[in-house]
Amino acid sequence: MNQPYTPADLPEKIQHYINGENVDSVDGETFDVLNPATNTAYIRAASGNNKDIDRAVAAARTAFTDGPWPRMLPRERSRILHRIADIVESRDARLAELESFDSGLPITQALGQARRAAENFRFFADLIVAQMDDAFKVPGRQINYVNRKPKGVAGLITPWNTPFMLESWKLAPALATGNTVVLKPAEFTPLSASLWAGIFDEAGLPRGVFNLVHGYGETAGDALVKHPDVPLISFTGESATGSLIFANAAPHLKGLSMELGGKSPAIVFADADLDTAIDACIFGVFSLNGERCTAGSRVLIERSIYDEFVERFAAQARRVRVGHPHDPATEVGTLVHPEHDAKVMSYIEIGKQEARLVAGGGRPEWYSEGNYVLPTVFADVAPDARIFQEEIFGPVVALAPFDTDAEALQLANNTAYGLAAYVWTSDLRRGHNFAQAIDAGMVWLNSNNVRDLRTPFGGVKASGLGHEGGYRSIDFYTDQQAVHVTLGEPHNPTFGKHEEPSATELDDPDPR
Ligand code: NAD
Repeated sequence: MNQPYTPADLPEKIQHYINGENVDSVDGETFDVLNPATNTAYIRAASGNNKDIDRAVAAARTAFTDGPWPRMLPRERSRILHRIADIVESRDARLAELESFDSGLPITQALGQARRAAENFRFFADLIVAQMDDAFKVPGRQINYVNRKPKGVAGLITPWNTPFMLESWKLAPALATGNTVVLKPAEFTPLSASLWAGIFDEAGLPRGVFNLVHGYGETAGDALVKHPDVPLISFTGESATGSLIFANAAPHLKGLSMELGGKSPAIVFADADLDTAIDACIFGVFSLNGERCTAGSRVLIERSIYDEFVERFAAQARRVRVGHPHDPATEVGTLVHPEHDAKVMSYIEIGKQEARLVAGGGRPEWYSEGNYVLPTVFADVAPDARIFQEEIFGPVVALAPFDTDAEALQLANNTAYGLAAYVWTSDLRRGHNFAQAIDAGMVWLNSNNVRDLRTPFGGVKASGLGHEGGYRSIDFYTDQQAVHVTLGEPHNPTFGKHEEPSATELDDPDPR
């Protein structure tokens, strides 16, 4: 049974937030936002276009050129960021409730994401005061140091999976470094983004520093990418969208950070702790409804344990609890939107033609509406199968056997993507060497997807361009200006102090 659930005290409508005010679109346009458990519209959100982006960028630009934010001491900005983290933490239950309702994420996992959002602010609040910059000295001759400067108006474009957390991932470093921002959140999930305005206001962020424009990628997102007063774009989303944004930003030579799609392998060797590996692979692909960029959506298993692994994995996948997102017992909730649901279901049908279905393969029969999909496992998946190569971004996993380390590596690297990889083995030497050989921005060795915020985050190949995380985020959101000062006599070769050239020299046909 699909128990209807609607959080109390929902806003009447979702508006943009520009220069400290909640506002409708200039043209009055709106779009429907759906509850993914029923696919009925529960609210309308302002739909921005280039006029709204112009207003938001102008506000952010003024806050940057004339406002206090970029000129505040790091410690002062840090205090405000810590207050933001405190407020997010104190509202984690409400944030999780709204996020789960809007996106279909299970409530317990949405709660974890809300806390991670607070942690992102706390982390960059600390980092900005601990920030060191290069200074070099050549004794008696020269001193060289770096001025680090915010870039201006940062354009932030985010997807719908874990929306609030991913927004915090960009907002925290962009703001910590003294930029002002325009955020364009995903159109499927605008609800939690609207909470930022109140949180920032309460924490004392100056007016105009944070601006939010809702709307479609092709209109609001596109206008932000092409705006001449926005020198950098941090984008998380699909690889195809990333390459389009890359092309659209090229005429302006913008700074770009691209966190894109994935089809990450989990490689399980026969000497791995099998119980732990199975638990981790199940969690790795079915948590966050499988709508996770780093999902281990291809599991490669050494042949000697393949049959046992497939049997146990499929049995456990069948026991994963699919349920209403608001139910604390739920492990897989609803996919975010009927369009995405249709895409995932179409891949399940493709998979049935391409491989052996061993778990799931459709919808739970006890729900008559909503984007519920059973955790689905395909075995014996060939490397050229579409379900092995293409990102599905749902609770669907491809299992395949391998015989040798070399074959495992070849299979692991055999996709366009290169975001994450997971390696399970008791042989340390093999684990480290295998990790190094994988084409992936991030490798977890005998580990679930647990990340230290200081480490680089990003992908290679079609999974992204550039790294964020820790100091790399600080680097992305700032310019580094090198200042060179002479301490001794200036090294000063002189030009133009020769005697006047003679007429013969001027006539010289060979100027060498
Ligand atoms: P998407 O590319 O469809 O949309 C992402 C954002 O871009 C949305 O806000 C959208 O409105 C906007 N957008 C769309 N077209 C645009 C355009 N032409 N110009 C400017 N903006 C535009 O992605 P999605 O479906 O929302 O998210 C799922 C994807 O995100 C998956 O591929 C997933 O792997 C990826 N993702 C990657 C990471 C990572 O860190 N690598 C993290 C989370 C999600």
